[in-house]
Amino acid sequence: MVHIDGSKGEGGGQVLRTSLALSLVTGTPFQMVDIRAGRSKPGLLRQHLTAVKAAAAVGRAEVSGAELHSRELTFRPRGIQPGDYHFAVGTAGSSTLVLQTVLPALLSASGPSTLVLEGGTHNPAAPPFDFLSRAYLPLVRRMGPQVEASLDRPGFFPAGGGRFRVSVRPAPLSPLHLLERGEVRRRQATALIAQVPYDVARRELETVGRVLGWEESERRVEELKRSAGPGNVLSLEIESEHVTEVFTAFGERGVRAEDVARAAAEEARVYLEAGVPVGHHLCDQLLLLLALARGGSFRTLPLDGHALTQVETFAHFLDVKVSVEELDPRVRLITVG
Ligand code: AMP
Repeated sequence: MVHIDGSKGEGGGQVLRTSLALSLVTGTPFQMVDIRAGRSKPGLLRQHLTAVKAAAAVGRAEVSGAELHSRELTFRPRGIQPGDYHFAVGTAGSSTLVLQTVLPALLSASGPSTLVLEGGTHNPAAPPFDFLSRAYLPLVRRMGPQVEASLDRPGFFPAGGGRFRVSVRPAPLSPLHLLERGEVRRRQATALIAQVPYDVARRELETVGRVLGWEESERRVEELKRSAGPGNVLSLEIESEHVTEVFTAFGERGVRAEDVARAAAEEARVYLEAGVPVGHHLCDQLLLLLALARGGSFRTLPLDGHALTQVETFAHFLDVKVSVEELDPRVRLITVG
């Protein structure tokens, strides 16, 4: 039994999700205390509880402490079960994070799986669906397993009500080396609006034009008719020769459209100027895939707390070495092996 202090490092939901994922894949039971102690509402929120229950279903696990607001959890997996799953968060909590908790296990399962996930699909502080489908899953596919995702309808905070489907054909994960970005081939800014004035989207796209110099043909509004509640998401997709990255900002009541757009544009600008293939968010998510593949390397930006916490969590479950080399003040080389 591995003992993990959930307040260490980033102290958020990620140490829990990564532990669940690695416990399933390695068959190692764990106990976690002080879950999400670093957050303003500590313990298991609905989204984390859904992730725990999803992991328990996929791993036929024996679990104690799987209750709302629980700060302690014991998880004993008893073998990965591929199949047809339906997981609903029940609030606007992120359903993409629930997927990422069970996906590593299903990638290595003995047969294919399908999943229907319900909840938020475009949440701040979580991978938005578009990032998942355009940036993350293409890299999973490049490593071997075939995973497809399709969005039925988006779910935004606070209404939720989103749904997406995923199909998984497992295969061993092979190491991935992503050292170069190559030439930028396509840039696409999309301002998604649902029950939000058109003008918000127009101003966001204008700001992207001003800050990043993206042409009118690289900017578009997507107006959604079907959603449980209002939402506004600006995503900046940068498709390069060797990788696609997606940077996202979320419209909020009381935050000006220009400021929302500037946040996403700034992230994209830092990424473009550093010349790396992998941005911050993709970095911590890719690290887990490479750790599971027991190998790979990529160039990225200086590591944030999420990435460092990932590496600390790996040590509980895997015998894998992650090295970080500073190539210049803005660029790190990560090697997993
Ligand atoms: P936590 O804050 O511990 O619940 O973890 C959040 C996870 O969501 C991390 O893996 C982040 O990299 C990821 N994430 C947060 N925001 C984004 C975003 N805008 N695009 C992609 N991934 C994100």
